[in-house]
Amino acid sequence: MSAGNKAAIALTLAAIGAVGCGKADEAPRASNALAMAVAWKETSAEYEALYLQGFNVAKMHVDRALRDGRRSLAVISDLDDTVLDTRDYWREVLAADAQLFEDARWDVWVAKNKVRASPGALDFLNFCRDSGVEVFYITSRDQGPMTMELALGNLKAAGLPFADAEHLTVITDSSDKEPRQRQVAQSHDVAVYLGDNLNDFRRSYYVTDAQRRRQRLAADRNEFGRRFILFPNPTDGHWIRAILGDSEPPPSQETLDRLHQLIGRR
Ligand SMILES: [Mg+2]
Repeated sequence: MSAGNKAAIALTLAAIGAVGCGKADEAPRASNALAMAVAWKETSAEYEALYLQGFNVAKMHVDRALRDGRRSLAVISDLDDTVLDTRDYWREVLAADAQLFEDARWDVWVAKNKVRASPGALDFLNFCRDSGVEVFYITSRDQGPMTMELALGNLKAAGLPFADAEHLTVITDSSDKEPRQRQVAQSHDVAVYLGDNLNDFRRSYYVTDAQRRRQRLAADRNEFGRRFILFPNPTDGHWIRAILGDSEPPPSQETLDRLHQLIGRR
């Protein structure tokens, strides 16, 4: 690197510091905590590629199970940010300059049926259907008594197969998916589980401690990409509960201050 380039970089860093910090010893503050996460979901080819990768891996395992002659095969999947693409909601959130997930806005958005299938989801799910593999969806969405009807409407709007009450479970009293997973596993041989939240696989990830969640991975390290297929979600999920105490924290100054305290610190 030339001396000129170094000087230019130093000037740029100084300018960023001057704009981003009130005081020299303060960390830079984003004007909207969500902006980069939504920009990544919205624009990056990497985001879409990770979905394609996840469904390709899932298909590989289902294919192998079929070749091995396993019977009564099933796939268990989460809905949002797994087989359903919710990016339109996040565009609305950012357009309104909201700082975090907003439950009331979500409930209105769900009823609009603007949801789409995630990249690669339809190919994989239709492959399952055409191969005689049943797909069971389990979601912890909660729109009150309308939850089931609205979720079925979303599945149909997105063109997903198995859009019926037999294959969709909504759990509004708890986000613990294990009881329903065990029920499906009694009558089916589950080839893979799909989710964007570790709680979609095991309840033991539902803890309010980010480090404990990461430590918990050690016991499951051989499951990822095999039995558990994980999709990316930088905007919402129980990882937020682990750092802010609530999956859907209020967008208060206290919440945002806590977020800024965490950035760059271990
Ligand atoms: Mg999800």
